[in-house]
Amino acid sequence: MKCIVRYTQNMRNVNPTRGFYAYLESAGEVFNQKLFGNTLPAPLFTLRRHGHGLGYFSGRRWSAGSGKRVNEITLNPELFAQRPLLTLLLTIVQAQCDMWQHLHGEPSRPGYRNAQWTRKMIDIGIKPVSRDEQSQRQTGQGLDLIPQPGGKFLAACAEIAGDSGRPPFSERWLKSEITPERPLADLPKDISKLLSSPVGPAVIDPQLQEQMDLKEAKRKIKYTCLNCDVNVWGRPNLALICALCGEKLRPKQRARTKDC
Ligand SMILES: [Zn+2]
Repeated sequence: MKCIVRYTQNMRNVNPTRGFYAYLESAGEVFNQKLFGNTLPAPLFTLRRHGHGLGYFSGRRWSAGSGKRVNEITLNPELFAQRPLLTLLLTIVQAQCDMWQHLHGEPSRPGYRNAQWTRKMIDIGIKPVSRDEQSQRQTGQGLDLIPQPGGKFLAACAEIAGDSGRPPFSERWLKSEITPERPLADLPKDISKLLSSPVGPAVIDPQLQEQMDLKEAKRKIKYTCLNCDVNVWGRPNLALICALCGEKLRPKQRARTKDC
């Protein structure tokens, strides 16, 4: 049987890179064993700050010196700040399910989740549902992932949270930012709290606030005239009128970070 090297609290004292990746590696190993029957090779975890949602899988992106191909799981550092621990773990498993299908199944085009993927997710205790509330769709794009009470996924998360706690390092974030919560059932209270709480503690830091305000002020958003299908980009809170039809241009809401 494959030996799982457990991440322990003592690793908090080791060097940041080693401690950070040891946590991810350990969580990935638990999921591989409990949800995927040890059929997944270890991925190379990378971090990427912008775009592509919270995380994604890239098949055979890397190569070892021997020429052996290595798969990549990329995570957004936002997962290590105000997001609940459960969202981090869910993102890892979602990418692992993509890897499972890449290696052992028949994936559709990138980003499109087909019936095989959905069956696997349901089997491991995660229900994909369409973000469109009117739709019963469980495949395609724009799916939310709902961990099922009593399912294998939440049981594996409880094991990780119980053994390893939170990741040893978190990105600093300001208390004013929104914290999404996911309700959890059927888990011990302390584990449930750990999983639904942000990975890192919020900070009060005027310097960080200043940096964030500056970033926000420089941010440009898209404004659209719905009549003429005309787009312009500009700072938030601008009042713009379309010269073609006289209608007010509507700002596009800030893109929601996709779960998948
Ligand atoms: Zn117009």
